[in-house]
Amino acid sequence: MATESDAVEAVILAGSNVDKERCLPESIRRLRRQPDITVRTVSACYETAAVGGPAGTPDFYNAAVLVTTTLDPETLRERLHEIEDALGRVRTEDPNAPRTADLDIIYYDDLVKDFDGWSLPDPVAETEAYVAGPVAEVAPRRVHPVSGRSTVEIANSLHAEHPEAAPTMAITLSVPYTTRAVPDFDDVEGVYAPRLEALIRDQLIEIGEDPEREGLRQTPLRVAKAMDFLTSGYTSSVEQVVGDAIFDAEGAEEMVVVRDVEYYSMCEHHMLPFFGTATVGYLPKGNIIGLSKIARIVDVFARRLQVQERLTNQVADAMMDVLNPHGVGVVMEGKHLCMMMRGVQKQESSMVTSAMRGTFRSDARTRSEFLSLVS
Ligand code: ZN
Repeated sequence: MATESDAVEAVILAGSNVDKERCLPESIRRLRRQPDITVRTVSACYETAAVGGPAGTPDFYNAAVLVTTTLDPETLRERLHEIEDALGRVRTEDPNAPRTADLDIIYYDDLVKDFDGWSLPDPVAETEAYVAGPVAEVAPRRVHPVSGRSTVEIANSLHAEHPEAAPTMAITLSVPYTTRAVPDFDDVEGVYAPRLEALIRDQLIEIGEDPEREGLRQTPLRVAKAMDFLTSGYTSSVEQVVGDAIFDAEGAEEMVVVRDVEYYSMCEHHMLPFFGTATVGYLPKGNIIGLSKIARIVDVFARRLQVQERLTNQVADAMMDVLNPHGVGVVMEGKHLCMMMRGVQKQESSMVTSAMRGTFRSDARTRSEFLSLVS
């Protein structure tokens, strides 16, 4: 069994020009699932015109992937071919034929070697701007073992020589490129948010850390995943979470109160957590809502960058919108880590906010009945 210390660094170029919105992210996801390959960094996705193909050949998406692996070069290459095959790559005599997935080893450690029909480093490392650009992004300190030029030097000179071929356009792909499309949050392999990962890696360096040390190697990926979940409210809506869980309840006129709904959010000033409980009450006018849906409505707004006052108001307004009741009251209590961990460090302080709508605002008896149920 190989240990981590046997692992070498390699740079892989992933490309696709058939069904590329799906196939490029999917090929990188499959790379992540390989037990002997650890994906360290992924570049942005670049769009480039097809090289050498006939007119009308679709443009390529390309991304470079920095990995460490315990596999020898030939086995690594076989593994990449398996991923290409799994994604429906059809191999033809034409080297420029459109393809769903193309995974090539550009660098393997500092190895300089000719194999049967291919060599390392891949010659395109020094001749093609669409390769050099993304490679320089993930491995800026790497030096070409033959020419001695850094990847950044190579990319800059190719871009200067052939500005028209420079893959300058970094693409943000729609689903399923982002992690949000992944239903199972705990599936590490299913996550691909390369820009966010790269930024978090840079952040580690900025604060004086070494992103390559054992404990931090998967941290950019984990943080990207966590951020994705904690801000998933941006891509969900009240209509979505409520669905058809609104029930006609003729004659239901009693106040309904759901107490102590836990929520977790992040303040928009420091991007630090604040969390606590929400108590939500309403006075029905014909319609009632499944109780668990109230917690889901709170989550839609809590899983964004927030201030507690706005969060409270948004929950109240959403309840008014979906239920059209006589009135709504929301009281939220929150502890803010930005206050507890830094600055004044008032560890016990918690903040209470409230929002009253309809009869909860206009009728003192309704409001006090609700507030008496809150604490
Ligand atoms: Zn704050």
